[in-house]
This record gives sequence, structure tokens and C-alpha cells, in this order.
Amino acid sequence: MTVVCLPGDGIGPEVMLEARRVLERLAPGVELEERLFGAAAIRAGGDPLPAETLAACRAAQAVLKGPIGDPAFDAADVRPEQGLLRLRKELAVYANLRPARRDGVDLLIVRELTGGLYFGARGTRPDGVVFDTCEYHPSEVERIARRGFELAFGRRRRLTSVDKANVLETSRLWRRVVNEIAPDYPDVEVEHMLVDNAAMQLASAPERFDVVLTENMFGDILSDLVAAVTGGLGVAPSASLGDAGPGLFEPVHGSAPDIAGRGVANPAAMLRSTALLLQHGLSRPAEARALETAVDEALIRAPTPDLGGTATTRTFGDAVLAAL
Ligand code: NAD
Repeated sequence: MTVVCLPGDGIGPEVMLEARRVLERLAPGVELEERLFGAAAIRAGGDPLPAETLAACRAAQAVLKGPIGDPAFDAADVRPEQGLLRLRKELAVYANLRPARRDGVDLLIVRELTGGLYFGARGTRPDGVVFDTCEYHPSEVERIARRGFELAFGRRRRLTSVDKANVLETSRLWRRVVNEIAPDYPDVEVEHMLVDNAAMQLASAPERFDVVLTENMFGDILSDLVAAVTGGLGVAPSASLGDAGPGLFEPVHGSAPDIAGRGVANPAAMLRSTALLLQHGLSRPAEARALETAVDEALIRAPTPDLGGTATTRTFGDAVLAAL
């Protein structure tokens, strides 16, 4: 079994080191293969997702990815983020899982990841109008909705489907498909919520939610909002899954160039992503739970500066290993 590790840019290599230490402890037989990705890969060969990296990811059991992004490429034609969109598309990981826990709050955002506005036609017309297009095929909605229902069934069996059906055609399709397949999951309670109301309720009463199912852009925005109300970017993990093939596991945060290279980045989001990898990528739920508990403990014993503490990336990792 192989896990491909993509350390990425900025604080990526720093938090990846801690993830590797934990994986070596919890999954000793698994081979960890490191590959270039992001700005580091552009510098090495001009492509943020080199062919060798993609081939290694495809052949792996799971992919653990650090954040990518580098201000030096903000205005460049070839940017690190293009590699990430391509990697998600190539691995066909259409279901993005963003769990968030805090006292009294335990919710899971299930975001459609490979369709919608971020992948539609875009451009500039001769008259100067610039456009982006949001498109969804019913089958794209159905597969992510089924994933949402299945995940809700394994939790508290409540699904909130978020859309903007009072305005958007794609949202009306979304709502229709969710209603059409709902009878296949009679034990899951479904509600529909408009995205503006969902933003307000997720901020003011996150405890009322179990699974939140939504399309690509709404999910992108709402999941960062939820990260903010449940402990900040430094602790928020994600898993991106397809139907077959390796899943992609990565922290929600970016490469944090403002603190990179100082050894103070919070590795909790990366380690929680590693727990998701153990659960969904390597089918080792016991080890996943052990790691989640150990991270919770380290957050109390050894908080990093973003959480008001003084721990370093390494001492946080030490606290996790000690708890394990
Ligand atoms: P960011 O998440 O990198 O940083 C936002 C703020 O949060 C910064 O103050 C940073 O120091 C802090 N922060 C983030 N993660 C932290 C951690 N683990 N520990 C402590 N503090 C942390 O967002 P940004 O500044 O908007 O983006 C920087 C770069 O990252 C950009 O190039 C952007 O495109 C990229 N980015 C990549 C991904 C990804 O790889 N999936 C996601 C978001 C942003």
C-alpha cells in the first residue's frame, strides 16, 4: 500500500512532516512516497502537476496533500492552484467532505467538487462582457446527493440541502434531484434551505445541523464560514472522494506565506486530514479515531500561536504522538 504525500508550498512541508511521523506510527506497513506539486513543481519544471506526480497519485491507495500557493505566482500564467483543480478533476473526486466539531457542534459539509461555476465555460466577449457559467447535469447532482444521504444515514440522519432555488435554474435542478432520490433513504430527514439563510444559521446556530449538502461554490464559501465558527482554519480538515480510485486528503487552509518557515504552523488540520485518510482511504477506522482523540488532546495541552498558545509545529506533533 502506498500513500502519495504532496507537501506543497509555504507551511505545507512543515505540517506534512508531522503527518508523516503519525502515519509511520499508525500505519507502519504503508509506504509514503513524496512527490512535487504546486509552486515547488512549477519552479522545478514549469508544471504545477507534473505527469510523474499525477501517475503516482493514480497508482496510490490515497493522496495526502499539503496546501499550495505562492504569492510569487499570483500574476503568472501558470499558477499552483491550476494544478489542484486539475488533480481533483483527474482523480474524479467529486465529493468533498468537510467535518467540523466543537462543543455541541458536530456537522459535516458535503460539497460537490468537480462541477458548477468553477468548471463551466468562461471568457470575455467582444463587447467586453466577462462571464463564468454554472452548469450541472442531473447525474452529477444525483451522485453527490446519494453520497450525502449515505453519510447522513451513518450519522444523526438529518440532511440539509442548500441551494438558491428561488433564483437559479441549476439550484431548481438540484432541489428536484434531491427530492427524487429522498424516498430511497426513508430514515434520513431532509430539509431544503436557501444559501443566504444557511450562511446566517451556520454562523448563529451551527449545532442544529448534521449533514449539509451543497454545490461547489456555495460549499466553498460555507465551509470556510463553518471553519471560522468551529475553531479556525488551522484545525479544519477535508477529504475528497470519488467512486473508485484514491481519495485526496488535505487541510482546508492555504500555504500561509505570512508564517511559513518559522515552525509555528498549526498541524492539527493536516493531522485531522490524516485521520480522514486512515478512515476513508486506508479503511482503518480504529486508528482514525485514535488520531482524532490524540489531536483533540494536543489542542488542549499544546496549542499553537494561532490558538493563543506557544507550542511549535513540532511540539504539537510530539503531543499527538505522546497521546497516541
Ligand atoms: P491561508 O489559509 O494560507 O492563510 C490565512 C491566514 O490563516 C493567515 O494569517 C495564516 O497565517 C493563517 N493560517 C492558515 N493556516 C494556518 C495554520 N495551519 N496554522 C496557523 N495559522 C494558519 O490563506 P491565504 O493567505 O488567503 O492564501 C495563501 C495561499 O494559499 C494563496 O496562494 C492561496 O491561493 C493558497 N490556498 C491554497 C489552498 C489549497 O491548497 N487547498 C487553500 C486556500 C488557499
